[in-house]
Amino acid sequence: MSAAPDLVVLGLGPAGRAVAHRAAAAGLTVRAFDPAPDARWRRTFGLWADELPGWLPGSVVAARSSPQVIARGRFDLRREYAVLDVDRLQDALPLDGVDVRAERTTRDGHGAAFVIDARGPAPSGSPNVPRQTAAGVLVPLGAQEELWMDWRVAPGVPDGAPASFLYAVRVSEDALLLEETCLAGAPALTVDALEARLRARLAARGVAAGELHERVDFPLLSSGPRRGAGWCGVGVRGTTLHPATGYSVASSLAFADDAVAAVRAGRNPVSTDAVLAHRMRAAALRALLGMSPDEQRDFFDVFFSLPDRHVRAFLSARTPATTNAAAMAAAFVAAPWGLRRRLARAVTPPASQPSRRRR
Ligand SMILES: Cc1cc2nc3c(=O)[nH]c(=O)nc-3n(C[C@H](O)[C@H](O)[C@H](O)COP(=O)(O)OP(=O)(O)OC[C@H]3O[C@@H](n4cnc5c(N)ncnc54)[C@H](O)[C@@H]3O)c2cc1C
Repeated sequence: MSAAPDLVVLGLGPAGRAVAHRAAAAGLTVRAFDPAPDARWRRTFGLWADELPGWLPGSVVAARSSPQVIARGRFDLRREYAVLDVDRLQDALPLDGVDVRAERTTRDGHGAAFVIDARGPAPSGSPNVPRQTAAGVLVPLGAQEELWMDWRVAPGVPDGAPASFLYAVRVSEDALLLEETCLAGAPALTVDALEARLRARLAARGVAAGELHERVDFPLLSSGPRRGAGWCGVGVRGTTLHPATGYSVASSLAFADDAVAAVRAGRNPVSTDAVLAHRMRAAALRALLGMSPDEQRDFFDVFFSLPDRHVRAFLSARTPATTNAAAMAAAFVAAPWGLRRRLARAVTPPASQPSRRRR
């Protein structure tokens, strides 16, 4: 019989596998559950290169670039972006010494072990759950400028239709991934609608592309608490999936060592500050959902004009609450009045219903 674990990890996607790997390497007794623990990852993972933890080998990076942003104006983010080789990433997180169980499980019934819930999105058919969607194709490097976000409207999209942007990022020495992306929608644009917009952009530029390479569709928020007695979440179930950007891989990888240190010290790895900062990011998502397509473009013009420290602070899902609040306040102050109203509404609880007059 195997020893009682110190740590139980639910789910072996990037978030769960990183924490199981780092905890076992640090000498904790770890048990991990996933119905398909050996399944190979197939998603394209991109992140800011400076957010990659130092313990990962450089070989996990497939391509580096410095993509720009176009909103109303053009912005040079002066920051290196990395797209990962997912096979190498997975292989760099071996589970030696981890008691791996090829089963589904829940948070309950794991004895005295601390439980990290990395099960990814819970199934939900609700159209009210904000999602990010995208449709991507590969084209040869050089066929199109490298852009992290291009908010110029795709040809044929009528005025007032929900906004999408083009993500055009180098994924290897010779290929770019072009993804028409709905940053956040409830409901979000469908992958088919995004593919049609992408093909219209490509046709207008005379760029040939083959079949769809990637379909993206995932929730930006999950319901329920992020932590409790003896457990915490990571990824969409925790605080490391940024609700207003959809990024999580960098912060989930970095979370692994923090989690090991916290479990060792008898602390919950998700602090109350992390929960508060996550609530602020969720408010930013609500603000985005409330904006018209034109307001979204205006907003990104304001946002990317902010000093670099605020841009970087807001984009990271690991920024402490006060620093995050300072970045959001700076965006508010820099925004025109109409946008300020949207931003304020998203952080203000709805007014309580006026009490009914007695007859
Ligand atoms: C196509 C696509 C591209 C994306 N690109 C990026 C990107 O470039 N950069 C970025 O930061 N983010 C990206 N994301 C968003 C997000 O980072 C990914 O969804 C990422 O896979 C989340 O990792 P995770 O480990 O939190 O969850 P998941 O990868 O969803 O892993 C969850 C794991 O839990 C297991 N599981 C489920 N239920 C149970 C259960 N009951 N018991 C045990 N195990 C269970 C599943 O089998 C799975 O292995 C992308 C998402 C998609 C869909």
